[in-house]
Order: sequence, then structure tokens, then C-alpha cells
Amino acid sequence: MTSNVRVRFAPSPTGKLHIGGARTAIYNWAFARANGGTFILRIDDTDPTRSTDENTQIILRAMRWLGLDWDEGPEVGGDFGPYAQTERLDLYKQTAERLLAEGKAYPCFCTPEQLSQDREAAQARKDPFQGYQRRCRDLSPEEAQARIDAGEPYVLRIKVPEGRGNVVVNDAVHGEVVFDAKELDDFVIFRSDGTPTYNFATVVDDALMGITHVIRGDDHLSNTPRQVMVYEAMGAPVPTFAHISMILGADGKKLSKRHGATSVEEYRDAGYLSDAFVNYLALLGWSLDGETTVIPRDVLASQFSLDRISKNPATFDPKKLDWMNAEYISAMDDATFADEIMLPELLEAGLIDEGFEADETWVDALAAIVRPRTKMPADAAAVAAPVFKTAATLEYDEKSVAKGLAKEGMGAVLDAARAALEAVEDWTAEAIDAALEPLPETLDVKKRLAFGAVRVAECGNMVSPPLGETMALIGRDDCLARIDRARPMAL
Ligand code: GLU
Repeated sequence: MTSNVRVRFAPSPTGKLHIGGARTAIYNWAFARANGGTFILRIDDTDPTRSTDENTQIILRAMRWLGLDWDEGPEVGGDFGPYAQTERLDLYKQTAERLLAEGKAYPCFCTPEQLSQDREAAQARKDPFQGYQRRCRDLSPEEAQARIDAGEPYVLRIKVPEGRGNVVVNDAVHGEVVFDAKELDDFVIFRSDGTPTYNFATVVDDALMGITHVIRGDDHLSNTPRQVMVYEAMGAPVPTFAHISMILGADGKKLSKRHGATSVEEYRDAGYLSDAFVNYLALLGWSLDGETTVIPRDVLASQFSLDRISKNPATFDPKKLDWMNAEYISAMDDATFADEIMLPELLEAGLIDEGFEADETWVDALAAIVRPRTKMPADAAAVAAPVFKTAATLEYDEKSVAKGLAKEGMGAVLDAARAALEAVEDWTAEAIDAALEPLPETLDVKKRLAFGAVRVAECGNMVSPPLGETMALIGRDDCLARIDRARPMAL
């Protein structure tokens, strides 16, 4: 399905891609995908003092990690390029010249001093309109040209039509938003240094790129009436706007560094899964049906709709993100978990090396016990560590030894366990469990204590995965050797 829906995500490369920007990108992407439309990435780098190529690269990398593929934009091109504002200066100039020629814009020579005098005077007389007093609006074209030719600095202003009245924006999220005509002034579209202002460049781009829906943060809602003036002056259709709510921290304040990690790459580096991260951010202000929380990417890309975006600010809750991440991990199959998470983490932790080779069934069996205990990828290495040690290298956690081994009667448990294990014929999880099963009763020791002692002896701690499965992976000889090493610690 293809449609004429065209949306854009237009980050300014003045910093990294943050959570709020990532959510805006996700909504635009999902809206394009759900409507068979086109998703455009545009780099709004008109602020040369704060924009850097490095930030642009970081944003592109983050977009790729998020899996938000763009149909037009940097590196992929497209028919409406260039896709960076600094490369579009000619287009802004051409449009401004056209508006000038059509009498929809005009040069203004007012000095900053003049402007502030006018503002103060308007304040003093309590004028409800405190914007630009339109001093240069009615200069004759000849006079204006003569002053330009004489080298006088000037800006270009848009000419808001006389009696334009209120601007009504039908926002897809906020509904009808009415902006009082009094708030509209003949704002600057080109500065005296020859650079376009944000409200002008953005609209020229959105109009020329055929953008049908502008989905962005509601910090831009107040810019919208001005932007509508530019569309109207250009004779271009006004797109549908959807202004999405802010994201707040747990304390109800706008999300910022104070709340912890805010850039996408920090989450990538911390090991969050892209799918889980996207799912979580998508829910910050949008819902599928008001209750479903696990929404796979393909569902998001087919079901996303603007009418389910909430007006209310969303709260970023790192605990819910962690929960989501754990959900995605637990939903993985063992082989995928092994390849994508467990083995890379084991390598990273130095528990295996590049040349690691093991029987696939063995790896899958390990994955099956490690996966349910992995909330963040790094947990995998910690959980699996005892399996990769030997009786000689296993580390015994002091507290676990004190609690689980150094207790009256535990020596007898280890002796009996050793004997039972020696008699196991086929070294499988089931046979191991079956051999250990009768010990508590035979020795009249509580189950929890008996199995706890064996667990500490075999794994060095009390929190390892199920005994039978773990010991099957360790192998019989080393399991027996571990009991021998632990025996002196037991009473
Ligand atoms: N570059 C602007 C920003 O990052 C884009 C605003 C818009 O979407 O119009 O806030």
C-alpha cells in the first residue's frame, strides 16, 4: 500500500538524540509505515554555532539502532533533497524573493534600539499588541530598494494580512486550538546576516517536501500560527499538525539529565534491546488499546494512529523500561538468546574466547537456564559464570558459604550427595535431580538447607539456576571435584 502520507523527523544536530526526540521519530516512522507513507529524515542544522557533523552522525547511528529506517534523507537521498537545511539556503532565498515580489514579505530596517523603544512604548500604553509595530510595512518599494542599495542592514518580515483574524489550528492531538490574531506580528523570516529563521525554513522545507502531517513535540505548538502564516503566504496547503506531549521525569519535571540517562546511545550501551526500547518509548503518550503493553515493532508499524495519542504529559519510568526489556528477553527463543545476548556477554566477560566452540544442544541447554534469569544482557554472564569455572577456579561467595555451607550437618549432606552422584549412570539433569532428591529425608535435613549446601558447593553462591540442569552442564568429574573442594568449608 502506498499513499501520499509524507512525514518527517527533523532533529537539530545541536546534541545527541534524546528520549523525547526518539519518541517523536518513532511516532513519525510508525505513522508513515501504518499508512503506507514516506518517512523523511531531515537535518535541521540552521544553527551553525551549535550544530556539528559529529552530532549528525550520532543521530543517524541512533536512528539505525532504533531500527527507524527512513525512505528519504541523509545517505539514502530522495527526490526532495537536499535533506540538510544548510544545503537548502538557495531554496529559502528563492521563496523569500517570491514572497517579496508578491508583496507578502517586506524588508525592515528598524534597528534593535528602535524595536526596543517601540516595545517599551507599547507596554507603557498597555497596548494589547506588543509585537512589531509595522514601521517598515508600508515603505514604498523604491525607498526600500534605495536603502538596500545604500547598504543599510535589513531583515525580511512576513506581512500578516490585514484583518487576518484568529488562526485556528486543528491539531490531531489537541483538537481545535485558537490563536488570537493579536499574537501575530510580522515576524522575521530572514535575518540581516542572510540566514532564514526556524519558522520560515521549516515551513519552506515542509511545503517543498510535500509534508502532509507534522508530528512533533508540543513545545512547537506556539510556533504553529506563525508557520501557518508562511504556508498561506506561499500558497501551500497547511499540513495536519499533531503536537505530542512532553515527557516528564518521576518528579513531574521535564525529563532532563537530572533524571539519569537521556540519550539513546546511553541506553544502547547499557544493553537495552532496541525492540524493547522502541516499544517502551512508543507507549509514552500513545496506546494501542489502553491496556496492551508488549507491542512488537510490526504491530506498531501497522496499528499506530494519531487518534490514540494522549494530550497528557507522559512519565518516563526507568523501572518500566527495565521490565519491558526483561519481557523481550524472556520472549526470545533459546538459540536467538544464545547468539544475540549470552555468547556476546560471555565473550565480553572473558568467560569464553573468540574460538569458543560447543555442542549446540549444550549451548541451548545453558541458554534455557540463563535466559529466565537475565533482565539485562550483562546478567547473563553473571548467571552463567559458575558453569565456565572449574573446581579449581570457582569463586565461593563468602556470605553464601556462611549461610549455606558452614552449618552443622552440611558436611554429611555433601558426603551423601557425592556418593549419590557417583552412582548416577547417565549424567543428565533428570538423573542428577533424582539422585539428590531423597537426601533431605534420609539425612533428616530441611530440603532448603540440603540443596542450598549442594548449590553453594557446585556454584559458589545461592542464586544459581536449577541444580540438575547446571550440574549436567558442568559435567560429572568437575561436579565431584567441586564437592571435594567445598567439603572442608562444611561442618
Ligand atoms: N529542528 C526542530 C527541533 O528539533 C524541528 C521542529 C519541527 O519538527 O518543526 O525541535
